[in-house]
Amino acid sequence: GSKSWEIKASELQLLEELGSGQFGVVRHGKWKGRIDVAVKLMKEGTMSERDFIEEAKVMTQLQHSNLVKLYGLCIEHRPICIVAEFMKHGSLLSFLRKNEQKLSEESTKVVYIKLNMCRQVCSGMAYLESHNYIHRDLAARNCLVGSSGTVKVADFGLTRYVIDDEYTSSGGTKFPIRWAPPEVLWYTRFSSKSDVWAYGILMWEIFTCGKLPYGKLSNAEVVERIRNGHRLDRPKPNCSIEHFNLMQACWQEAPENRPSFIRIEAILNSLRDREI
Ligand code: ADP
Repeated sequence: GSKSWEIKASELQLLEELGSGQFGVVRHGKWKGRIDVAVKLMKEGTMSERDFIEEAKVMTQLQHSNLVKLYGLCIEHRPICIVAEFMKHGSLLSFLRKNEQKLSEESTKVVYIKLNMCRQVCSGMAYLESHNYIHRDLAARNCLVGSSGTVKVADFGLTRYVIDDEYTSSGGTKFPIRWAPPEVLWYTRFSSKSDVWAYGILMWEIFTCGKLPYGKLSNAEVVERIRNGHRLDRPKPNCSIEHFNLMQACWQEAPENRPSFIRIEAILNSLRDREI
């Protein structure tokens, strides 16, 4: 029978390539001749497909204005495709780097733009948290920017279906070490509070216009620094001490000492009210 998450190949028209990532090529497309979509063609052998198809049913139910909408999957032919909301300006990381000049001006306008990005991501994450859904790979590269600067969180929960030890094991070369808290580095213990740590790093990425966290340090050196209780420095300029305090709260050693996303949202809002 027809399933709500299943997208017919006949309704899908593939257009230009948008980029490529861990799972394969992403192309612009039209669905039903009118809806702009992004189509992720899953490279064969990179995903445990049966489990992922099950999961996609859950993922299509997660809907929020700051989450990239998953329309469904097209599984009639290989490769299977993920069909998602089209985000005109691509990844937040490339957006930050492309607009670095404008976004590193020292001005209240720039601060406002950056805090707005932080608030939008937080809002999407608070929704995931309230549904007990763990992202596991929150970072600027996994957020997307749409028209009028809307920022949305993408790729939530996907890493669980990746078949690649280099990516999924904390010792692997592709593991996002720089976004991982101590309990993930030592025990692979993911939770909404490990997402909160990653969120603090993402705030730092936004304030530095997309710098690589811990810069030139090797992964091993980063792990050593975290072990010794060192953290990232306050970004310059445009990051107030209050916003840096918030990042640092996300980097508390013990997960239970980090704020929840609901709490972070409240803090960001109260800081905004003070700005006016
Ligand atoms: P992967 O998850 O396989 O690593 P990504 O999700 O990072 O792949 O996608 C690779 C690139 O494709 C992104 O950097 C972005 O430029 C583009 N892209 C991905 N999803 C979308 C989307 N929904 N809308 C527009 N562009 C997208």
